[in-house]
Amino acid sequence: SLQQPEGDQLPRYVRVNTLKTTVEDAIDYFKREGFSYLGQAYRLDDLNLKGKSFVGDLHLSDLLVFSPKTDFHDHNLYKAGHIILQDKASCLPAYLLNPPTGSHVLDACAAPGNKTSHLAAIMKNKGRLFAFDLDAKRLSTMSTLLLRAGVTCQQLANQDFLKVDPDGGSGNNTTGLKMYLNDPEGLKSKWMVCLRDEASPSQNEQHKRRLQALAAFQLHCLNHALRFPRLQRVVYSTCSIHTEENEQVVAACLLQNPGFRLVPLLLQWPERGLAPLTKCLRASTTKTLTHGFFVALLERHTAERLEEQ
Ligand code: SAM
Repeated sequence: SLQQPEGDQLPRYVRVNTLKTTVEDAIDYFKREGFSYLGQAYRLDDLNLKGKSFVGDLHLSDLLVFSPKTDFHDHNLYKAGHIILQDKASCLPAYLLNPPTGSHVLDACAAPGNKTSHLAAIMKNKGRLFAFDLDAKRLSTMSTLLLRAGVTCQQLANQDFLKVDPDGGSGNNTTGLKMYLNDPEGLKSKWMVCLRDEASPSQNEQHKRRLQALAAFQLHCLNHALRFPRLQRVVYSTCSIHTEENEQVVAACLLQNPGFRLVPLLLQWPERGLAPLTKCLRASTTKTLTHGFFVALLERHTAERLEEQ
């Protein structure tokens, strides 16, 4: 039927934390526990699993997929930080940004840090990962989770991202960030991730006003990210399905920042951003068997990059 699967009917995604183990070892561990591995998925329908069977995801190589009722919150591998329980859609931003080892990455709204730890895994803990969050409590939870995940390249700051000075001026009291900004030679590639994915309430009177406020904040945040002089790429993601927070934010940002353009993402991904922003991705319970999500990747034009060097 065309009925929307409920959240609890979606497959359970398990990201293998490659800082601590390998996909092969995780698969073997689950097999020894009586789960049956059906191999790599080839079609979306292969992710509709029953009982104790599991597959490798068809898009993301470090992701295993289990049946909807599977719960690994008490599992040894989870407690040891070998696996991260993370929806597939929320694995897209770090995967698509794909920062090389040694890069410098900023995570603007980072807590509780599943994407931060994914970034660290992709960078193999080499390079620098500066993560900001306004909320001290969430940041402290994040610190515990990153420790468990074996992340060592991070520098956390309890700071409003919008107040982080892109030029490293006096308002910026983050040692790590200063080092990043004052690093005169620098790495040739500087990367940045701007992750903001607060869900917005769907049906109440203040819905529209709240949506506008969120969208305005998100545009502000994205514009701020683009002001960092060494920035090359920004991934913008939300767990919202509203075009006001997604395509409209990105379209406004591109208009205001002609030096940046969209990078086409995962051509084999089944759900695209609304036209004309089809280079972006969307995710949904029906079309991708994930929670609702949006991802855009912006990069600086080559011409501008050359001028800068
Ligand atoms: N990216 C996170 C992850 O993958 O685990 C989830 C991010 S969460 C949905 C949004 C976070 O943004 C919250 O922890 C909130 O405290 C933080 N936040 C909101 N406004 C902010 C700002 N101006 N500067 C820094 N963090 C902010």
